[in-house]
Amino acid sequence: MKVKDEKFFITEKCLQFLLEAAGNFYPNEFVALLSEKDDDSVLSEIYMIPNTIYGDTFSSLDLWMVPIGIKATGSVHSHPGESFAPSQADLNFFEKYTVNLIVKKPYKSIEDVAAYDRRGKRANLRIKNEF
Ligand SMILES: [Zn+2]
Repeated sequence: MKVKDEKFFITEKCLQFLLEAAGNFYPNEFVALLSEKDDDSVLSEIYMIPNTIYGDTFSSLDLWMVPIGIKATGSVHSHPGESFAPSQADLNFFEKYTVNLIVKKPYKSIEDVAAYDRRGKRANLRIKNEF
């Protein structure tokens, strides 16, 4: 993924799915991996990972279950509250991906989604639809 000015893009469809999934999983955490189609720098694909442990205090992705061939560039997980603040476990996990999203309550719009880079630094997230 090419990163310009720490700005990341996501399709409207992908965003809507994440918001809905986060709401459906509440009060548990929703976790998934994200990737781009054709390396176009727009997050549009969502991979729900089998064997993911969903809990109300933590989520853990079983990375051995990520199907071979998936080139995940991002991660997403939800917080069961109204805070975007990444935990230490979140920060350790972020190092594996270019972009990491945290979705918070009330899971309604892009205002409820925060993007972080690999180092845990807050980045911009914009909607960009594919043609
Ligand atoms: Zn978290």
